[in-house]
Amino acid sequence: MKVDALREKLMRGIRKDPITECWIYSPKARLTKSYPRIIIGGRKASVHRVMYALKYGDIGNNQIHHICNNKRCINPDHLFSLSFGDHRKHHSPNWIVSTPKH
Ligand SMILES: [Zn+2]
Ligand SMILES: [Zn+2]
Repeated sequence: MKVDALREKLMRGIRKDPITECWIYSPKARLTKSYPRIIIGGRKASVHRVMYALKYGDIGNNQIHHICNNKRCINPDHLFSLSFGDHRKHHSPNWIVSTPKH
C-alpha cells in the first residue's frame, strides 16, 4: 500500500476531539485492551505505530508512548518513541517527568 493511501485510510477512520486534539481511531468499535490495528500487506500493525512511522520514520524496536494516555489516539503530536526500558520507567510512579523528543 502506498504511503498516501495508507495515511488516507487512517485519516478516514478517526474522529478529532476538539478539546484534547486527540485523533480517536475507530471511535465506534468496541473498546479492547489492546490498541486498534489494521492489516498492511497481510500483517497486523497497531495504527498509532503506523501513524508515527508515517510522520517520523522508522521506529525500529522502540515502543510508542501516548502523552495523552488515550490508546486510540493516533495524533503524531501525542506520540513519542521510547526504548522498552525507558517506556517502562515512564509508566512507573518514580519516573521524573521529562519531555523526550519524538
Ligand atoms: Zn491524543
Ligand atoms: Zn506509554
